[in-house]
Amino acid sequence: MYEKELIIRKLPPRLANQIAAGEVVERPASVLKELIENSLDANASQISITCKSGGSQLIRVEDNGIGIPESELNNALDRHSTSKISNLDDLSRIKTMGFRGEALASIASVSRFSLTSAVSGSQGAKIIVNGRDMQTEVEPAPHPKGTTVNVEDLFFNTPARRKFLRTEKTEFRHLDTVFVQQCLSRFDVGFKFIYHNREIHSVEECKSKTEKLYRVGKLFGQAFLDASLSIDSNAVGLSLSGWIGRPTFNRSQADLQIFFVNGRLIRDRNLTHAIRLAFKDVLFHGRYPAYVLYLLVAPSEVDVNVHPAKSEVRFLNQRLVQDFIRRTIEKVLSDDLPNSNSSTNIFKSTDSFASGKKFNPMLNQFPINDSLQQKHSVAFLFQLAERTRVYPDGLEGEKQYLLPLGHAIAQFLGIYILAETSDGLVIVDMHAAHERIYYEKLKKDFNQGNINSQRLLVPLNIEVSEAEATVAEDAEDLLAQCGIQLIRRSTNSLFLESVPTLLEHSDCEQLIKDILSDLKHGYSTDRLNDVTNHLLSTIACRSSVRAGRRLTKIEMDCLLRELENTQRGNQCNHGRPTWIKIPISKLDNLFLRGK
Ligand code: ADP
Ligand code: MG
Repeated sequence: MYEKELIIRKLPPRLANQIAAGEVVERPASVLKELIENSLDANASQISITCKSGGSQLIRVEDNGIGIPESELNNALDRHSTSKISNLDDLSRIKTMGFRGEALASIASVSRFSLTSAVSGSQGAKIIVNGRDMQTEVEPAPHPKGTTVNVEDLFFNTPARRKFLRTEKTEFRHLDTVFVQQCLSRFDVGFKFIYHNREIHSVEECKSKTEKLYRVGKLFGQAFLDASLSIDSNAVGLSLSGWIGRPTFNRSQADLQIFFVNGRLIRDRNLTHAIRLAFKDVLFHGRYPAYVLYLLVAPSEVDVNVHPAKSEVRFLNQRLVQDFIRRTIEKVLSDDLPNSNSSTNIFKSTDSFASGKKFNPMLNQFPINDSLQQKHSVAFLFQLAERTRVYPDGLEGEKQYLLPLGHAIAQFLGIYILAETSDGLVIVDMHAAHERIYYEKLKKDFNQGNINSQRLLVPLNIEVSEAEATVAEDAEDLLAQCGIQLIRRSTNSLFLESVPTLLEHSDCEQLIKDILSDLKHGYSTDRLNDVTNHLLSTIACRSSVRAGRRLTKIEMDCLLRELENTQRGNQCNHGRPTWIKIPISKLDNLFLRGK
């Protein structure tokens, strides 16, 4: 294979660095990330970024941090040279963003690079890299306390890399994303981003909570902020804070998801999964939640050195962390009951929902109502009234207006309930609301092991395919726990012996067929919790009031009261809102009142 004698030689420094750069510097945005992190590590309180042509022509980062003494400039550019750690123990209590000592060496090896810096009381000096062996040149250069790194013509000497660059616009988007992420990582630092002489972003140091919120709104969008729930929780030595978008503010992509672990931006499949699980019950399949979250963990409990770009971490106790995150978010979501704080925002968040990507139209095709089911639903609503003991007509004047969802005034097209509050009009999607109420009730009953079930007078014979019969047989126990007694009778027939009381009068045969088809298509029993929830959700959907059915005022009011007290009541099982509110101010606007 070798034409000459085999010779093993040391790579010239620049080539060695260029190879290392393959891991650290994927694209201009990765350069920006490393440079900003260095500025943050240097205690800067103000960082300004200037870029041109998607960053491939110019990336400049200026900071007012501690600076680098002239005598250290050469060391800063050496590979594996860092001021941040000196032994292995340091690595387990790391507080800085950097520690690998590779970024500057890597970046300098694939660009025309210079760094100018001054420490307090010094004049300032500049180091320029040139030549294929990374020879450097240091010259005096006036600079205020702090550091400016200038990276031009990225990948000019690595054409293979350069070819991988996308369009200027795409690279700009990546730069912008990194900038926004960094701004959200440190509220105590001011940031500015200038692109081709235009100021794209500028955010000031934040001192108060209000200023922080303002920054989030500015960078992540006011719509997110309006639809967000704030999180602040400490337990088991962990702390989680930040904001999550309400389920009705969801995205078609995972583009508004930011997660920091000890200030470090992390992309971790397990963490993302934990968050998805928390949203599972309230988000339509295929949609993504939005969040900015901050997890604090004792540095000794987390290994940050598992990825060259430091974007992954490993936790000593992965399970504990995941459970903590999931539980915390689940709680915040389920405690988000309709109330005066959330209601005014709902209108806006639903706005963005409506303008967002369209949902599966199938969801709106509710089966036609059958009269038996109507009768049943009426009975149920009266039961609710008994239980909640809120007879709206029995409440005198003012009190009615304290109810978050107000009191019913009419039913609209058999689909919506219109309700009046002191400051607006509430519109409730009857079916969606009812479905959520039932679903939460079923889950609660299921967890307590007592879903009310009713024996059919005569078992219902259901003809199915052989495969479906097998599925039913395998899922027999689970179905029984959900209140469905389904026995295999022959190769392709089943006996339905009992059903959940809620379902008593529904079209049970159709429901069973739906369930079997779901079970057949991918709901494997090793994900039991998913299967159960899906089952319960199907039952809830089947048994709730259908569009088109007339409700009395008492029934409507009962539904409103029940919804106010239902966990996750703001959205149906598919993540659509159950209700919206149009504030009176908005109505006044529409009618040009007071103008
Ligand atoms: P690391 O950040 O992992 O230490 P880098 O290659 O990014 O490695 O930087 C090398 C060293 O250069 C840092 O440890 C730090 O001492 C110094 N340095 C880099 N950027 C700055 C800056 N903006 N201000 C002050 N010192 C810096
Ligand atoms: Mg660094």
